[in-house]
Amino acid sequence: MVSDPEECIDCGNCVEACPADAIHPEDELPAGLAPALEWNARLAAELPMATTRVVPLADAEQWQGRPGKWGTLPAGLAPGAPVVPHPAGP
Ligand code: SF4
Repeated sequence: MVSDPEECIDCGNCVEACPADAIHPEDELPAGLAPALEWNARLAAELPMATTRVVPLADAEQWQGRPGKWGTLPAGLAPGAPVVPHPAGP
């Protein structure tokens, strides 16, 4: 999930609702996550808006809290990589 920084009103609801504790307010980012700000903003501009709730992926628990997982992202999704447009995107 990414959040559009142009639309976010900093209400904090997603922070409270995330069961994986994976969402952080910009001013409370854990050490090492600074590249996530630019990455989030780029993907938010490229990906379609989610309009329905989806079930977690089958392997979600396996990835929760796993260090270095950004290095396993496919090309185009890793921080710093050019964004590959989503087939269902705008
Ligand atoms: S739920 Fe999260 S992304 Fe949405 S407005 Fe609130 S803080 Fe921003």
